[in-house]
Amino acid sequence: MSFFDGIPVAPPIEVFHKNQLYLNEKKDNKVNLTIGAYRTEEGKPWVLPVVHNTEVEIANDTTLNHEYLPVLGHEGFRKAATALVLGEDSVAIKEDRAFGIQCLSGTGALRAGAEFLARVAGFKDVYVSNPTWGNHKLVFKNAGFTGLHDYTYWDYQNKRVHIEQLITDLENAADRSVIILHGCAHNPTGMDPTQEQWKRIAEVIKRRNLFTFFDIAYQGFASGDPAADAWAIRYFVDQGLEMVVSQSFAKNFGLYNERVGNLTVVVNNKNVSAGFQSQMSLVIRANWSNPPAHGARIVHKVLTTPALHQQWNESIQAMSSRIKQMRAALRTHLEQLQTPGTWEHITQQIGMFSYTGLTAAQVDHLIAEHQVFLLSDGRINICGLNTKNVEYVAKAIDATVR
Ligand code: PMP
Repeated sequence: MSFFDGIPVAPPIEVFHKNQLYLNEKKDNKVNLTIGAYRTEEGKPWVLPVVHNTEVEIANDTTLNHEYLPVLGHEGFRKAATALVLGEDSVAIKEDRAFGIQCLSGTGALRAGAEFLARVAGFKDVYVSNPTWGNHKLVFKNAGFTGLHDYTYWDYQNKRVHIEQLITDLENAADRSVIILHGCAHNPTGMDPTQEQWKRIAEVIKRRNLFTFFDIAYQGFASGDPAADAWAIRYFVDQGLEMVVSQSFAKNFGLYNERVGNLTVVVNNKNVSAGFQSQMSLVIRANWSNPPAHGARIVHKVLTTPALHQQWNESIQAMSSRIKQMRAALRTHLEQLQTPGTWEHITQQIGMFSYTGLTAAQVDHLIAEHQVFLLSDGRINICGLNTKNVEYVAKAIDATVR
């Protein structure tokens, strides 16, 4: 007898499960295109040089200690993260209508934001793009949202954003629905709305009284320029829209396991900030009480020290340009092989991922016959490619789709 008799085994979390299958694979021509983490040309994780050097400085700084941070986090980090996404001279910052709340990476920011919206502010319905990152619905459901909906995002036939249906779906959303938008480098499709399309999205959100929840987990990865990748968010702010923005520093700082994140909040009336922040303190108090300091100290120091900021920019450039090279290489190989289908979407898509269009059966075949591991929706992490394996992967895809 156990209190836990009868609890069924939950299905595995696909991305971690597939990553484990890759690790278990004995053949050494295997390729891991599953988990969304950057890899070097040698297929290794990368500690950014500026992160390593800053960690050493922090370790040697005898003025620092391990006292608790405030519930809402490291003051300097919160400010720096907010400025990174909204822009140093954002009108919302100048008017004291924007503030940051340190959270446990992007997921924690989504969770704290969602819980605040559901429990404190009374929102009930949330819309996520179809398709979206596998965790969005689970986070919002567990945070207390009762209406979980999709809006159309992807045109599977033409491999592009289905803007007309997207707008129609937003037109039909209930008043005060929360709309989750990927700030840049949409996961899993790798395709963002154009600036004209973003303008249409902002217009319908404003007119229909919907609430914007941006999720930006890849700032800098899409274009190599963090400011350019925040264009949509800054445009929405300029339109006078209120919003919350979950920010992750997992990818752009390579700080995956340090759980460095921020929830940037933009409101229309600075007088609501005190209520918001005090209620958010209670949401966080009941979750993790106060956040960890290490990663926040690194990000704060790098973002606020011009020479270090410059080194970080260079690392982001290095990562995003290697990704672009691998996109081009994969497409070129497939086209040279005259692999059935069209492959220009691989270079049109941006950020870490490519939504290849491979079917679930083709994915199974790639794994079983070629030891190329990817998600069942056909998403690949381009960072798993390098000059040594990209031709092998192209040949495996070619053999699979023929
Ligand atoms: N949102 C999206 C769209 C993501 O892809 C990810 C990471 N895979 C996250 C949020 C959050 O990641 P983390 O909690 O590691 O910052």
